[in-house]
Amino acid sequence: MKIAIYPGSFDPVTKGHLDILQNAAEIFDKVIIAVAHNGEKKGFLPVEKRVELIKASIKNLNNVEVDAFEGLTIDYAQKHRAEILIRGLRAVSDFEYEMQLSQTNSALCDKVKTVFLTTKPEYNFISSSTIKEILANNGDISKFVPDAVYEYLSRKK
Ligand code: ADP
Repeated sequence: MKIAIYPGSFDPVTKGHLDILQNAAEIFDKVIIAVAHNGEKKGFLPVEKRVELIKASIKNLNNVEVDAFEGLTIDYAQKHRAEILIRGLRAVSDFEYEMQLSQTNSALCDKVKTVFLTTKPEYNFISSSTIKEILANNGDISKFVPDAVYEYLSRKK
């Protein structure tokens, strides 16, 4: 059984994240999308809310679980018997950071491999930080985020 972890901030989850997740769910037997607690950064939405919004957005994916974790991603992966980490690549600008992260993780634990996926072109440019900026300036984010996120953020304003 091939279990993959898709770790990230997902603050908030976007259609880009969901496209990566859908591809991963087609390739692997089970995928755990795991929201990382970042001790230093408070974040835009609380981790529990991010988890709730992901759950509301993935009802069509039955081999996907949603969770949150603290600490090292490789420790979390090993605890869940996962040997694959999924990360997404948008542009060359992501590459350097993602490469360093995957090499650090494999230096810490060579059993856990990182697999990079890309999205459909129409979701490629989407990022959580741009969404927060559009929202802060009263722009329309409906094209970029799943319905549950759009509804929650519209109410929250
Ligand atoms: P992190 O803070 O760990 O980078 P993010 O929630 O920003 O968490 O992203 C999680 C992963 O999803 C990262 O590998 C990121 O590059 C990828 N990702 C985010 N948006 C997209 C997108 N639109 N297309 C492809 N990959 C994406």
